[in-house]
Amino acid sequence: MIKTALYPGSFDPITSGHVDIIKRSANLFDKLIIGIFKNSSKTKAWFSDEEKVEMIKEVLKNENINAEVKIFNGLLVDFISKEKVDILIRGLRALSDYEYELQFTLTNKTLAKSEFETIFLSASRKYLYLSSSLVKEIAQNYGDLRTFVPENVEKKLIEKVKQMEL
Ligand code: ADP
Repeated sequence: MIKTALYPGSFDPITSGHVDIIKRSANLFDKLIIGIFKNSSKTKAWFSDEEKVEMIKEVLKNENINAEVKIFNGLLVDFISKEKVDILIRGLRALSDYEYELQFTLTNKTLAKSEFETIFLSASRKYLYLSSSLVKEIAQNYGDLRTFVPENVEKKLIEKVKQMEL
């Protein structure tokens, strides 16, 4: 039986920590979907849904990873059942992620409309303290982004900062 995994997130923008989890998941399951939570009008995202899809697709192409990228709206459990997802993947960094991730998982389990299991992958040591917010802060202060994001994302971040300064 084919096992489909879903890795959901905001990916504003995708970081090397996300890429690491994506690569490791793609090796574990037959099919991997990267699910982008649609930006709501309330979220102050730097990147539009389309920009996020474009950046992730380029990363997948450059890294030779076989995965699909989809934007979704509404409840995660509805998307899980629609896409026939068997495994939900989440990444765990420091202890501070644990509380939020457990709440996220248990809530989704309670709301579940189909059978699925959640698997946590621990962040690699190199990316333990890496987050999209940190990356945006570094970009805003013209820091070196090379170890934190793929090259195409670095370019987009620099462009974005320039646009914001206009
Ligand atoms: P969210 O807005 O849901 O936190 P993110 O895109 O920031 O979405 O993260 C999606 C998932 O990836 C979460 O499970 C998060 O813990 C995990 N994650 C984020 N950054 C890293 C990283 N550097 N290493 C491992 N997992 C990570």
